[in-house]
Amino acid sequence: MLSRRRFIKLCASTAAVWSIGASVSRLIVESAAPAVPALLYHRVGYGRDHFTVSPERFAADLAFLVKRGYQAISLDAFQNFILDRDVKLPEKPVLITFDDGYLDNYQNAFPILKWYGMTASFFVITGMLWEQERLAPQHIVEMAEAGMSFGSHTVTHRSLSELAEEEALSELADSKVTLESILGTEITFVAYPKGSYNQRTIRLASQLGYVGGFSTINGRCYKDTPDFILRRIPIFGFDRDLARVMAERGRLQ
Ligand SMILES: [Zn+2]
Repeated sequence: MLSRRRFIKLCASTAAVWSIGASVSRLIVESAAPAVPALLYHRVGYGRDHFTVSPERFAADLAFLVKRGYQAISLDAFQNFILDRDVKLPEKPVLITFDDGYLDNYQNAFPILKWYGMTASFFVITGMLWEQERLAPQHIVEMAEAGMSFGSHTVTHRSLSELAEEEALSELADSKVTLESILGTEITFVAYPKGSYNQRTIRLASQLGYVGGFSTINGRCYKDTPDFILRRIPIFGFDRDLARVMAERGRLQ
């Protein structure tokens, strides 16, 4: 039997036609529904590319979130939210995510997160674990012991939708096994490299035991957001005003 949540998700994905009136009422209902904004960072340092924010900017972002009453949640708490389990989330939850597993996540972001009492989730490319500028297993263990969460960003960071099936399968499976052997806990989320996924990606990830996949589609996550097309709010080096970024890139799609 379909659960209520599955039924609603099914309806949401099959109902293609909305009258104007229905759209308006849906917007009103959804804007009041519990939502988790998932912020997407990559690097924290002094690089001048769009994917790097300075430590000062990252600290200012966290200070802003604390001041506004946001509380960072773990991937486990987020999993309970999307699976509709009866768990109480903070009144203003936020999921802070990092893609690509750069070493500066440990060197620069981790101390700032601890200072502000925040937690974050790191999506790691496991084939790069021993490279110079990337996280190594000992960093991951130390960060996890301090309450940080981890997920897969595959083994080689290739676009999953463009790979042959067996390659896509091993990207999803091998990265999961590697992280699980480092952490001794189950890895249940993947962030798709370059935001690339298709129906096969979703099927394979689901069969392997993942419960959710993060895309790079802008928006917040609601209980009826498809589990394997989770939305995020990307943060770039040139951004200056997190409130505005969250409002603009986190609005309903
Ligand atoms: Zn990436």
